[in-house]
Amino acid sequence: MKEISQEIHRKFQELGVEIPLEDIEDRLDKMVSKFKVPKEEARRSVVNYFLKEHSIPKNQFYTGQSESPLMKISELNVDGKWVNIKGKVVQLWENTHESISQVGLIGDETGTIKFTKWGSAEFPEVVEGQNYYFKNVVVNEWNGKFQLNMNKSSSVEQLDEDITVGTSTITFIGALVDIQSGSGLIKRCPQCNRALTKGACMEHGKVDGVYDLRIKAVLDDGVTAQDAIIKRDLAEEMTGLTLESAISLAADALDQGVVLEEMKKLLVGKYYTATGSRVERYLLVDSMVPKSTIDPQELDELIAASEVV
Ligand SMILES: [Zn+2]
Repeated sequence: MKEISQEIHRKFQELGVEIPLEDIEDRLDKMVSKFKVPKEEARRSVVNYFLKEHSIPKNQFYTGQSESPLMKISELNVDGKWVNIKGKVVQLWENTHESISQVGLIGDETGTIKFTKWGSAEFPEVVEGQNYYFKNVVVNEWNGKFQLNMNKSSSVEQLDEDITVGTSTITFIGALVDIQSGSGLIKRCPQCNRALTKGACMEHGKVDGVYDLRIKAVLDDGVTAQDAIIKRDLAEEMTGLTLESAISLAADALDQGVVLEEMKKLLVGKYYTATGSRVERYLLVDSMVPKSTIDPQELDELIAASEVV
């Protein structure tokens, strides 16, 4: 047992990680004497525990190799797999946790995936719109969805090539059942384009916002509910309310909320065929057609196309 502990200790040392020998012995001893785990299995389990604790890829430990396979985003479907990825930072999101340094979306030709750069990652901050070679990042499954984690073992190189980000287009047919707050007449930060909350940007504080129209709709096909984001031009088309008329409506009522109420009156309860790209849980809508105006054959084709995706 002492031998096994020492061997594990030495192997971690070779990877530059100092784990107190007694911690290894304790853990190993508990497994073997208390839980009657066979020695070899106990060794593997103890190694895996410390690999996870120190964010070291398994293949780096077992083969001494630090190279993870280069993969495409659409192939990332194994929890715990360490990979290399060439991708573009498509979006950076508001960061909600102090142990996280950055969170956002990376894309390549095959699609997009959420990434989380933990505080332990030692490389500099990534920039929206830039292309990178991410090395030793780990796939993580959460709530049935895959994401990428970047930590102490991960590194990044900036790429000169420009990666074209592919999206998966989906079609969703259903009733518009709700329009959520944050819809209607909103203001955006002139610097980062984020929607303001009570006149303030998460990143830039109190700013002189720029007016915009947006609809955060909930579509329901009787089986699932789909959150959909509809941008200004489409929102204007659907409601007949232009940005200018929405501003004067709000000015007359001395209340921005009247625009949202008006939109609800006009849209809730209607059926639509929405087409767009799926980003995380949202459908970013490109086209929104009232269901009844679609010719049945076109509808069949749309449904067939969406099932392929
Ligand atoms: Zn801002």
